[in-house]
Amino acid sequence: MSPVIIFDPRYNYGRGVPGLPKQIHGFVRQKPSLIRDALLAAGAFRDAELMGPQFVKVDDLSAVHTPAAVAALSSSSAVARAVELPPLKWLPIALVRHIVVTPQLKGTGGTCAALASAAEGRWAFNLSGGYHHARPDLSHGFCLVADVALAIHRLRAGGKRPNILVLDLDLHQGDGNAAVFRGDQTVFTASMHEEAVFPFPKLESDLDVGLASHMEDAEYLDHLDAFLSDITERFQAQIIIYVAGSDPFVDDPLGSLRISREGMRERDRRIARYARQHGAALVALTAGGYSESSPAVTADGYLEMMGVLGS
Ligand SMILES: [Zn+2]
Repeated sequence: MSPVIIFDPRYNYGRGVPGLPKQIHGFVRQKPSLIRDALLAAGAFRDAELMGPQFVKVDDLSAVHTPAAVAALSSSSAVARAVELPPLKWLPIALVRHIVVTPQLKGTGGTCAALASAAEGRWAFNLSGGYHHARPDLSHGFCLVADVALAIHRLRAGGKRPNILVLDLDLHQGDGNAAVFRGDQTVFTASMHEEAVFPFPKLESDLDVGLASHMEDAEYLDHLDAFLSDITERFQAQIIIYVAGSDPFVDDPLGSLRISREGMRERDRRIARYARQHGAALVALTAGGYSESSPAVTADGYLEMMGVLGS
């Protein structure tokens, strides 16, 4: 089956707001559009269906967040703290919502649409999502909404309960998803990350691998193979939600891993091959990545995964 690509121009942060820098919190504001453009230029849309996100409004978040965490999205200072952008606290909440909250609500709707497609057996590539630090009671680390949690909640509300692997290869540990799914028998959380960076403390996933700083391709990919083998021994996934952060890339300013462009491509090929070997549908989420090259690294990886699907 052909893959689905999920995109909305409102994924972009601060859309149409004059005077904002190109990157906020290091994050390229137009990253979703840049990934779309790169996929378009590579011809990905000849074989894929383009889809929009499901509708998600703030009130919907009470399904997976505490009332206090939902209420915090109506406070400029609370949102500014969560996304680590102090100047936002001086702006009216309507503008703060436009700049950072709405993009993550749209991205969350994209994750919901992607998972719904995966439940039908289609691989789905969301050009946003992967807000893996958002915990039920706390938005932090640039993550406001537990998008994976809401997507799984909606799937279950529709009567489906597949075995889902949340496979997190972002530079940072997926503490939010670890907290959300602790003790959940049909969701297995696995995170391989740089140990010495945010979040502190880390929360326990079903499987965690904390990597040493300054690691390069060969060692990283060896760890990845061992990580995937450990997962296989413990869990049989029907759907893999891949938190595919590009921040292990060598030029990312938030970490010290030294994974090359080819190393990142190989990482994503291995994940796609793993999904194929195990007959699992893949959902890819962009997650972190804080260098100017991040959109291109992510687009590369998405194309590699689509290539494995089509091979
Ligand atoms: Zn990250």
